[in-house]
Amino acid sequence: MIKPDKNNISRETLACLIIDDPLLKPRYGCLDYKKLLEAMKEHNFFTEIAFIPWNYKRSSPETVRLFAENPEYFGICVHGCNHTYNEFGDSNYEVLSALSATALWRMEQHKKLTGLSYDPVMVFPQGLFSSVAMKTLNDQGFIAAFNSTLRATDGDDLPASEYQLPATSIYNDLPLFLRRYPKDKHLFVEDIALGRPILMVEHPKVFCNGYKFITDTVNWINSLGNIKWTSLLSITEYYFGHKDCADDFRQSSNPSSPQFSNRTKIALRRFLSELRDNYIEPSSFLTKVYKMLRI
Ligand SMILES: [Zn+2]
Repeated sequence: MIKPDKNNISRETLACLIIDDPLLKPRYGCLDYKKLLEAMKEHNFFTEIAFIPWNYKRSSPETVRLFAENPEYFGICVHGCNHTYNEFGDSNYEVLSALSATALWRMEQHKKLTGLSYDPVMVFPQGLFSSVAMKTLNDQGFIAAFNSTLRATDGDDLPASEYQLPATSIYNDLPLFLRRYPKDKHLFVEDIALGRPILMVEHPKVFCNGYKFITDTVNWINSLGNIKWTSLLSITEYYFGHKDCADDFRQSSNPSSPQFSNRTKIALRRFLSELRDNYIEPSSFLTKVYKMLRI
């Protein structure tokens, strides 16, 4: 493992906790946004919600207000479009282009309905993406993507040198940042040493045993050096500068919501995922039953 030297420790390292999937409601599964805010204030960190655009009409005014009043602690970004399996792992340009455009369109509708802005960066569902998906994101005005692997579904693993960078630009020059689960937290030391951001990913179920696991991890990260917690937009701009392409998209395009022939399938999948997140995972008994049934 690489150890940070003195110079690297004094340099500022940007960090963000990314939580995938939850709706903006006071409580989603084991995640209670008010409790999370208290934890962030006490332990000094920032959380970005990877928001599923499919849910754009479902945010609660109470939670929207909490986000609006605390922009130094909460942000939202784009997590897929419908969040079906492998939706960005496909390699059909037309399909991926429609998905990317629809994801942005829905986020714009969410912004109109709630007043909440969002970071035009993509977090891929299930960590699956193709090089074609990266191209369509770039073409549609996204400024970066964040994922738990740098390898595309239609490509080979990248050279080791790409993993040394803050983000790889190998896919059509759209920056792709690598994020990690807390179980791999020893690699955060390497991130600091090499000048990369600390990008920690979790799901709402991490809070089923309280907030201590995350706050202990945050405290450990904050002890490593000069850590500044911030949004994924700020992290992208820190490394790659300000880009206006997403604004251009929003101003120049007026897409209607594309129609999907498999709407029922998408709705059923979302329903089952939310059933798992809200009723099964918060109950240790039901979690055991669920796991048994899956075997
Ligand atoms: Zn997800």
